[in-house]
Amino acid sequence: MKPDLFESPDYYNIDDLLTEEHKLIRDAARAWVKRDVSPIIEQAAQDAKFPKSIIPGLAGIGAFGPYIPEEYGGAGLDQISYGLIMQEIERGDSGVRSTASVQSSLVMYPIWKYGNEEQRKKYLPKLASGEWMGSFGLTEPDHGSNPSGMTTNFKDMGDHYLLNGAKLWISNSPFCDVAVVWAKDEEGRIHGLVVERGMEGFSTPETHNKWSLRASATGELIFQDVKVPKENLLPNKSGLGAPLGCLDSARYGIAWGVIGAAMDCYDTALRYSKERVQFGRPIGGFQLQQKKLAEMITEITKAQLLCLRLGQLKNENKATSAQISMAKRNNVDMALKIARDARQMLGGMGITGEYPIMRHMMNLESVVTYEGTHDIHLLITGLDITGLNAFK
Ligand SMILES: Cc1cc2nc3c(=O)[nH]c(=O)nc-3n(C[C@H](O)[C@H](O)[C@H](O)COP(=O)(O)OP(=O)(O)OC[C@H]3O[C@@H](n4cnc5c(N)ncnc54)[C@H](O)[C@@H]3O)c2cc1C
Repeated sequence: MKPDLFESPDYYNIDDLLTEEHKLIRDAARAWVKRDVSPIIEQAAQDAKFPKSIIPGLAGIGAFGPYIPEEYGGAGLDQISYGLIMQEIERGDSGVRSTASVQSSLVMYPIWKYGNEEQRKKYLPKLASGEWMGSFGLTEPDHGSNPSGMTTNFKDMGDHYLLNGAKLWISNSPFCDVAVVWAKDEEGRIHGLVVERGMEGFSTPETHNKWSLRASATGELIFQDVKVPKENLLPNKSGLGAPLGCLDSARYGIAWGVIGAAMDCYDTALRYSKERVQFGRPIGGFQLQQKKLAEMITEITKAQLLCLRLGQLKNENKATSAQISMAKRNNVDMALKIARDARQMLGGMGITGEYPIMRHMMNLESVVTYEGTHDIHLLITGLDITGLNAFK
């Protein structure tokens, strides 16, 4: 892969709206990605292996629990800092950002928000340091967009719970130390349980042959009569709203993250367009190529502004789930279109691992599907503005 020459586009001087702390955190994450992720990420994706060597570095830039209070090992930052860290990591690779998102928003967040003090103290510091890695089990083979239909369940056996079922498409599952698993009790109510590696009957087979998010490990969570201690149930929230609350936090991180992927594609295509000569002049001088670049920077700028405002709302605890859906949907679609156009601008070189674009493009095909598909987020906006449910 070519050296990482990335320069971040900021067409509307959005940096002026950030605090010095935001910029320091963002720049530290950016420097770490250039130093520790860019040199190894192409090979990791080609090999379809999550590069575990970067776990301490992710912890070091505050990517595990950016907004979790410092008393639990988190970085204690605001929501805009969280977004900026996700943006920089995904500038490197969406798979690496997925690992960080799952750890922060889907594992640490529910333990922090729905767990008790003993659970917070037991799990959060180890997750923040990367000593333990987590996964989040909501999706099942027969229940993806409709998680409320889940069949994974647990029975009260007196001194423990007995957990049965299976989860599919679970990021980090093959190497996770703990999994936050969503399952129904005997009354059909959804609860979160922390399942630990080593519990008898719990296995995590890897899903192979992905063409997307190849540098992220994905797999199953299988529970066959797993005895889960009663103290592992998250006591402070139940019902579908509990996992959906985690998804709000993760989707917010995705809305920022994909700006990073889009910026990397734009920056790569812009540089290439000035260097690549055809018909005696740089291809960047042709109107058709300028149209692509001009539209890319316009869409990136709109996405940056959307995220910054959403971050302000999140900081004030005012962001609605529907507002987060809109940003996730818009920004992933924006990034995917930019990746496709950027790939074309590089011609044949665009399909090689010499440049990051094809990897971003393939990664984004997962990002547009997970955490609520593109169409599901449209239905959420539709429901929000009309009050009419078009899901069923
Ligand atoms: C790489 C990867 C990593 C993932 N990581 C995790 C993870 O860590 N934890 C986890 O729990 N899950 C994870 N997922 C699962 C992901 O969230 C689901 O794939 C997603 O929710 C969609 O579910 P599905 O794949 O079953 O598709 P389906 O729900 O079967 O949807 C298929 C199609 O039907 C459409 N559709 C569904 N319902 C409707 C409707 N009512 N109206 C109109 N159209 C509809 C969808 O938009 C989609 O286009 C991951 C997925 C991938 C690919």
